[in-house]
Amino acid sequence: MIKIKTPEEIELMRESALVVSRTLGMLASEIKPGANPLHLDKLAEDFIREQGAEPGFLGMYDFPNTLNWSPNTQIVHGIPNNEALKEGDIVSVDCGALKNGFYGDHAYTFEVGEVAAETKKLLKITKESLYLGIRAFKLGNRVGDVAYAIQNHCEAQGYGVVRELVGHGLGTDLHEDPQMPNYGKRGRGKKLVNGMVVAIEPMINMGSRRIKQLKDGWSILTADGKPSAHFEHNVALINGRPELLSTFQYIYDALGVQSNEEEEFRSEKLVT
Ligand code: MG
Ligand code: MG
Repeated sequence: MIKIKTPEEIELMRESALVVSRTLGMLASEIKPGANPLHLDKLAEDFIREQGAEPGFLGMYDFPNTLNWSPNTQIVHGIPNNEALKEGDIVSVDCGALKNGFYGDHAYTFEVGEVAAETKKLLKITKESLYLGIRAFKLGNRVGDVAYAIQNHCEAQGYGVVRELVGHGLGTDLHEDPQMPNYGKRGRGKKLVNGMVVAIEPMINMGSRRIKQLKDGWSILTADGKPSAHFEHNVALINGRPELLSTFQYIYDALGVQSNEEEEFRSEKLVT
């Protein structure tokens, strides 16, 4: 059952989304060669608590940490360890927070130092697909329209779109209805209605879409050993159109990246 949120609830959810957005922004300045994942995990936990929130993933389904830390060939659900970051790595960091009874759930794939050109391209296309999916999250569309937009953009580059893991509704539960897959057919699936809040999160592999799981029971990685990327935003459907609740702006500010991708998105007219 899809739980429709009131405008007041959406404002609370915006605050939860901003807690995780700020946390990823804080981490952005710490993610560099030599950084210790467990140390960053503790920094993130403390930073979330300083904001009057609780880590959303810690203890959820018995997950042992605050961050999902998934370097290089890991797709999602990696566990932070003592393995220091190296120049040329990428790392997908997924972070959850619970505040005022609502979850924020937000992810970004970071570059560590200088990464290979083909890896940069994977990150760029995956992030583009996230915004294409978000643009399709509007009144008159269905879940399949969001899914198709993401899949089409990534498969056009020959990338593998992970199917076993999907985006989701978000609210007082971390995972609510509907599931938001990153593959699908236009015009199919549940209708999108005002008051829906979802996490849209393409998980895109440079090679095959096939996955495997580490023996730790958590980390999901690419079967072919090629890199994977993951970007996640929290989005509400308000007055017929998508509104971003989370923001990458804290990350861009920390990294000195000039980007108007979110402003562009907010100001553009989406044809319904
Ligand atoms: Mg997430
Ligand atoms: Mg999620």
